[in-house]
Amino acid sequence: MDHLVKCRFCGHSIGHTFVDLGMSPLCQTHITAEQLNHMEPFYPLHAYVCERCFLVQLEEFVAPGDIFSEYAYFSSYADSWVEHARKYCELMCERFGIGRNSRVVEIASNDGYLLQHFVAKGVPVLGVEPAANVAEVAIKKGVRSVVKFFGTQTARELAAEFGKPDLLLGNNVLAHVPDLNDFVAGMKVLLGERGVITMEFPHLLELMQHNQFDTIYHEHFSYFSFSTVTEVFRHHGLTLFDAERLPTHGGSLRIYGRHAEDASKPAGTRARDLLALEERSGLGKLATYEAFAEQVRETKRALLEFLIAAKRAGKRIVGYGAPGKGNTLLNYCGIGTDFIDFTVDRNPYKQGKYTPGTHIPILHPDELIKARPDYVLILPWNLKDEIVATVGRTPGLEARFVVPIPTVEILN
Ligand SMILES: [Zn+2]
Repeated sequence: MDHLVKCRFCGHSIGHTFVDLGMSPLCQTHITAEQLNHMEPFYPLHAYVCERCFLVQLEEFVAPGDIFSEYAYFSSYADSWVEHARKYCELMCERFGIGRNSRVVEIASNDGYLLQHFVAKGVPVLGVEPAANVAEVAIKKGVRSVVKFFGTQTARELAAEFGKPDLLLGNNVLAHVPDLNDFVAGMKVLLGERGVITMEFPHLLELMQHNQFDTIYHEHFSYFSFSTVTEVFRHHGLTLFDAERLPTHGGSLRIYGRHAEDASKPAGTRARDLLALEERSGLGKLATYEAFAEQVRETKRALLEFLIAAKRAGKRIVGYGAPGKGNTLLNYCGIGTDFIDFTVDRNPYKQGKYTPGTHIPILHPDELIKARPDYVLILPWNLKDEIVATVGRTPGLEARFVVPIPTVEILN
């Protein structure tokens, strides 16, 4: 018991280490050329597991207002993610009869990548997005959005101004919430009587089974199994009646919630099967969580071994992408321009800047072709198929693609 913090959900004192990734800067604070010689804040990237509810979590070192108010992540820059959102919209309209007379609210609606599909069908929508610069892009697309953080206070305001939604959704936001209880309580306040909640987030089971330690970063406060998230929702009067396992972000869950009082949607077998799978996989035992750290150290050794051998052989390595997960990986493994000349990213907000902590230049994707590298290290490995299928077809590019996770792999 080295350091005592209180569990974000159940309040129990937690001191069991899940994994300690050392000190790391905030993953979205890309550095400008002028800032290169300035001090950069680093915070402990140390994940704990609660022995009572098994919520894996980070301490809150930085207020969300400092992280999310000016955010450089625009969902629409990933084509496969926009397509994922389109399919989701079709599914919801079909399964729950969402249409022109329904209301849809999305929490952390980003640049409108998802709600635009409901708008196209004439469904009234409202996006709730804390980053003003990102929400502005959504509004320009015709997606009604308000600039707010979500919680019980916001939920009461939205219920009064917009009405209670039939579909309340949030993708990759639950993990980003420091006050988890206020957030879930807010959903209870806002949701329509017969409404459905869906949330997507990376599945802790996949993180553990596939070494996805780089999805741990300061912006992600919590890491959920289905069993733990079921408890969190139950505590706030919400029942999870279904769950789907999705391939997105290396393996995510889509959970379906409703009011505990709403008997119109009985719990399905997928939810029961998933609870049983997690039990069989040891997620109800502290020892399973405590074994994760050594797996992570081994992944680091293997990646460094590959990079050192490649550099000794005179190879040129560049990166692809500058995602949040890349920054955890680069900082934890100590990879800078000594291994990777530069990385490229489609997001113009990142181009011309440097990766936090490791100061690798982030350039326009065209530079990758010009550099004629031997290897391209794909940092957003969850998009590897999309990247290999598009960038890999570039005439004149003979580089081999490398993914670092779950273990270093050279793709053909
Ligand atoms: Zn707990």
